[in-house]
Amino acid sequence: MRRRTVTSALALAVPALLLGAPALAEPSAAWTPERTRELAGRLPDLRSRRTAAGARMAALVAAEGRVSASGLARAIDGGQYACGPTRMRDYITESTKDWTAEDFDLMDQLGLLDWPTYHALLFAPDGPQTYGIDGEYGKELTKTFRRLQGFWDVDGSDILLAAMHGSIFADTEALVPMVTLVFEISEADAREIIAAVQEYLAQPKFDGGRHPLFTFNAFAYSDRDAGPDEALGVPDKIIMGDGILQCMENLGLGDVAPRGILAHEYGHQVQYRLGLFAEHAGTPEATRETELEADALAGYYLSHPRGERLRAQRVDAFIRTDYEVGDCSFASNGHHGTPNQRAATGTWAEELADAKGAKGHVLTAREVSDAFRAELPEILTPDA
Ligand SMILES: [Zn+2]
Repeated sequence: MRRRTVTSALALAVPALLLGAPALAEPSAAWTPERTRELAGRLPDLRSRRTAAGARMAALVAAEGRVSASGLARAIDGGQYACGPTRMRDYITESTKDWTAEDFDLMDQLGLLDWPTYHALLFAPDGPQTYGIDGEYGKELTKTFRRLQGFWDVDGSDILLAAMHGSIFADTEALVPMVTLVFEISEADAREIIAAVQEYLAQPKFDGGRHPLFTFNAFAYSDRDAGPDEALGVPDKIIMGDGILQCMENLGLGDVAPRGILAHEYGHQVQYRLGLFAEHAGTPEATRETELEADALAGYYLSHPRGERLRAQRVDAFIRTDYEVGDCSFASNGHHGTPNQRAATGTWAEELADAKGAKGHVLTAREVSDAFRAELPEILTPDA
């Protein structure tokens, strides 16, 4: 199937927006909720302006429930799809305690929490990459990525690994093409909106966009299963956001979670290559199955002597990461399996990697997938 390029898929009519007069820049003036409301009134509703590809990116972000910053923000705001408080939600609640309802409304109106994701999906890696807010995960993630490419029998040599930083908000020239493409607006309007956003995010509580919630995200992207109007025309990639890494570090999981999350996302790329997504239609059951299977692939790799060879205790710590984000809203398409189901998946994968005679031998990804799907009814049972 022909893949459209980003440009041809998105370059449609570009109607002008009437933004009104920009507010006078008052860097020293304290922001008030009224000022945020005034800004919201002056800026367009970008969410309703998303192109088809923009809408698809938003759906992808929402499906990877670990990661949807806007979903998490809404969960905190409205108490939706909560399965009891978790340490990750506590972390977000704590780190956003000085955000106002007006802030959440404006973020929602502009889809602002997803801007770094859109940019990363469309344009990253756009040069040498660093991982983590201070580059602290660079060595570890680069090494793990290469090891994953060698571990699985599936060819992943065409997958790109890319970072996602909140500092992108300071880079006007990087944001302009993203904003014009995703929201179908003129360059002049994009520049005006970006300038207003930069002024708004300069508030200390947002740290210029480096607050972790803007990059609370890690995901795998491929055009493989996309229809002709949905494909983004970009290479297969895995994006690792600073915010999710920062949160894991804060929860005491910094030694295992970066590798664990990367292995999970790589598992999704394996699924694309084996056509394991193909039979699924975006139902909650299908999402649960592919998410748990990505956990199984990750758990197998993390435990295996030829993978990360992590001690069971540390793999359990990663399982606990999953435990933190497993949600209980079965009706949601982003349903990743309940905490019990994710923990059972991790234990199963650990045992498979540790099986007698497995030392040195690596099963094919297809074999792990087949074994996992055979086991799935058992894994689902406690909370089926
Ligand atoms: Zn996933």
